[in-house]
Amino acid sequence: MLNLTRQMIEIRSILLSVGGSNALRLPSIVVIGSQSSGKSSVLESIVGQEFLPKGSNMVTRRPIELTLVNDSTLAAETAEFPALKMYNMTDFQQVQKVLYELNMSIPETEAVSSDPIQLVIKSPKVPDLSLVDLPGYIQVEAADQPVTLKSKIRELCDRYLEEPNIILAISAADVDLANSSALRAAKKADPKGERTIGVITKLDLVDSETARQMLTNKKYPLKMGYVGVITRPPPSTSLFRRQSGAEAFIAQQNFERAYFKEHKDSFIGTTVSTKALKKKLMKVLERSMANCLRPMHVVVSNELEEASYKYKVEFNDRDLTSEKYMAQTIDNLKLAIKEFSERFGRPELRALLRSELDQKVLDLIALRYWNKPPVTNKNKESENEPSLDELATAPPNDTYWHRKLDIATASLTKLGVGRLATSLISDAILTEIDVLLDNTDLRSHPMIKNAIKDAAVSVLTTRYNSTAEQVENCIKPYKYEIEVDDREWALSRQHATMLLKEELKQCTSAYNQLKKTLGGNKLKQITTYLENENNLVGQTIAKENLGFSPGLLSRGREALFLKERSRLLAMRLKFLQSGCKSKDNKYKCPEVFMDLVAEKLTQTAVLFLNVELLSDFYYTFPRELEKKLGKSLTPEQIEQFAKEDPKVKKHIELQERKELLDLALSKIEDVMALQKRIV
Ligand code: GDP
Repeated sequence: MLNLTRQMIEIRSILLSVGGSNALRLPSIVVIGSQSSGKSSVLESIVGQEFLPKGSNMVTRRPIELTLVNDSTLAAETAEFPALKMYNMTDFQQVQKVLYELNMSIPETEAVSSDPIQLVIKSPKVPDLSLVDLPGYIQVEAADQPVTLKSKIRELCDRYLEEPNIILAISAADVDLANSSALRAAKKADPKGERTIGVITKLDLVDSETARQMLTNKKYPLKMGYVGVITRPPPSTSLFRRQSGAEAFIAQQNFERAYFKEHKDSFIGTTVSTKALKKKLMKVLERSMANCLRPMHVVVSNELEEASYKYKVEFNDRDLTSEKYMAQTIDNLKLAIKEFSERFGRPELRALLRSELDQKVLDLIALRYWNKPPVTNKNKESENEPSLDELATAPPNDTYWHRKLDIATASLTKLGVGRLATSLISDAILTEIDVLLDNTDLRSHPMIKNAIKDAAVSVLTTRYNSTAEQVENCIKPYKYEIEVDDREWALSRQHATMLLKEELKQCTSAYNQLKKTLGGNKLKQITTYLENENNLVGQTIAKENLGFSPGLLSRGREALFLKERSRLLAMRLKFLQSGCKSKDNKYKCPEVFMDLVAEKLTQTAVLFLNVELLSDFYYTFPRELEKKLGKSLTPEQIEQFAKEDPKVKKHIELQERKELLDLALSKIEDVMALQKRIV
């Protein structure tokens, strides 16, 4: 013996995992028999375990592909359901239960499913065999089922009965062989009786002469002959059980042995006993596997060639596994983060924060200086407040203007620059991570994309409070005193001028836009009306709106506002040129002074943001990614990730297929070489 079956079973399981072509299947022994013929008893006595589900309502609804592996290193039988990832099961009642449930998952209305159950049993006592227990073959004839279901069952069974499979046709000795539906079905699939082994069970129930005639059946001669067995199930199946599995089968074997010994003479020249059946099955299977080697080699070579060609053309022979894809993804991401860190450093940070603070400065100045205080009855005192037009000519020590600037400055320094700046930068980083992810392969991986975003958020969150506090602490001195030198003043004057010019431009353009949409004349009419109305404020004269709609009036007010804002801005710009040359004039130049404060706040904040938040993020985030994606994911999660992308899935699966076919082919070649040497 070459132990060929064992090796072929290995090759078969490789080819099974490749899936696809049926031609890749190696021969199995397909067991058929009518209900109560003793089919289960035969299978169980081969295995030496009671494991098949019992019941009258057609408990076998899916083919069971049973692989027996002889493993002398094992102390006892173990079972596994590879598809369910259930391994090393030693409780065969549990196996029975799983099989029952797997069968019952097919509803009675569907009768059968062609999706097979894969069951592997390893034991030091079983022979290397691959068997198939077919669903209710015989029920086809017996049961009262609709024609479509019958033909469905028949189709499924016929496919298993095809070459190169061996048919194990089980008939009970106490039923006339002419009525054996197993033999009838076998004859249809194998008319010349070349691949069928007949098994006659329950020999103990007939007299020796009848038994003998059955075993030498002349009506339906089989090249591989008949084997007689007594597989009377062990007493453990009776109501008064519990003989342990192994003991029960020893009892069955002893009974069988004793029976054939006692009737030795009647069975001369015939093959009897479960032991002889096992031996025969091994021999027959090995021979038919050997016959399959050459055609299998051709089929596998062709499949491999086809897969390799596709692999080359579609994927340029580029090696890819789920793990590699994941590693590549992490590397690409790290690279993208590195590039981002080069693009987004201290200068960018500074620009971002400065522009945010510029906006705040403009808002504060607008609020405190440029907005004309609304003059109403209730707001009498504001009538006495000097208007901005008077600022230029106010005496240098006018406390009103001093207080105004102090308040505006305090509003800026006490704005919560720490939190504002930290949030601003964190948001900018997160937005960039989003953009970055959408520019990599990760865009089609929602699961990992979210994990990465979560990682970024968690890195930033851990630094958020301490960064905001540090920044806030460091700008604290500016809340009390701000020193100014000439150079800083000159720069801020320049910058403030630029900002005011931009603001003026926007005001003018917004005004022109309104003018364009309303028409110059109309706008004039409305604004004149509104100006008159303003002049009448406080008087109780009934006002007419001259037919202007509330919408038009609100636009008119907007136009007036813009016109006034533009006038003030132009005036302030002019004053910035003439009256703001020296820092000593700071109370008359709030735009310049506030700009200077914003600059100082920016400079200080940036120092800490850069070290505490940005540099720390660039250092920690890639490590966090490695931790989150590289190490804490299970192989299944990595595979799921890689295969989320259809193109990657196709690539990986084709590569796996190619590798498996390659492995199978080299194993087939090894076996062929060995066979040649021995022959
Ligand atoms: P299945 O329906 O074809 O799977 O048949 P089972 O293996 O369940 O057996 C049907 C019945 O025949 C059971 O009651 C068994 O006890 C009985 N039986 C099976 N084999 C033998 C045998 O060799 N001798 C005797 N006397 N009874 C047997």
